[in-house]
Order: sequence, then C-alpha cells, then structure tokens
Amino acid sequence: MVSPVLSTPSAFTPQSITPQSQERSSGSSSMSCYPCKAPDCSKHFSHQRKLKNHAKTHQRKTYVCETCPAQYPHAKSLREHRQTKHQNMRYYCDVEGCGDFVAQKKNMKRHKESKHAHP
Ligand SMILES: [Zn+2]
Ligand SMILES: [Zn+2]
Ligand SMILES: [Zn+2]
Repeated sequence: MVSPVLSTPSAFTPQSITPQSQERSSGSSSMSCYPCKAPDCSKHFSHQRKLKNHAKTHQRKTYVCETCPAQYPHAKSLREHRQTKHQNMRYYCDVEGCGDFVAQKKNMKRHKESKHAHP
C-alpha cells in the first residue's frame, strides 16, 4: 500500500553525470552539478535548463530608487514607484528665488551648503 512515489515516469534517463576528475564541488549533494556562475550566487541546479532559467534573473538590470532601497527590473516600474511613494516627499528650498526641492529633508542641508553657502 505504502509505495513512495520516488520514481518518476521518465521516458529516458538523463545523461548520467559522471564527475570528471576536475575540481570536486565541495557541496553536500552531488546531484546538482550546474553551479550558477554569478559571483554572489551559490546556487546549484540538477538540470542545465533550470540553471539557464535561473541565470536570466541575474541578467536583468535593476533600477534602484535613489530615495529608498527599493529596486525594480524596469525603469517604468521605478518611475511608478517614485510617483506613488515619493511624490509628496518634497522639501522645497526656502531660499528666495531658488525653487529647488529635494526628496529627503537631510538633503536640504547639503543643497543649501552647495548652492547657498556663504564664503
Ligand atoms: Zn544565481
Ligand atoms: Zn523609493
Ligand atoms: Zn536652494
């Protein structure tokens, strides 16, 4: 009755993975032998296709919000984020005739120092 469904109905067996006497991956499982090549990623995959799929996530360029740590895969998403999240976060410079604004209050100090600093 209790038969573990470990065997998948595979029509063919994937190429047997023989560890060619190169460097042994010091990983715990020898099943996954397609390591991700991204520098800060240590993922391994049992199938090349899975690795390829995963690798795409590294190729995506990310757009990082300069106001908060949020990041998005598309410039459009970031723009929307800025508009919805930071549209009200504007601190206008109170120097007459300036009209500049910054997104964060702490930047105002810098703005004044760089723009309106008295020698
Ligand atoms: Zn990766
Ligand atoms: Zn943001
Ligand atoms: Zn100003």
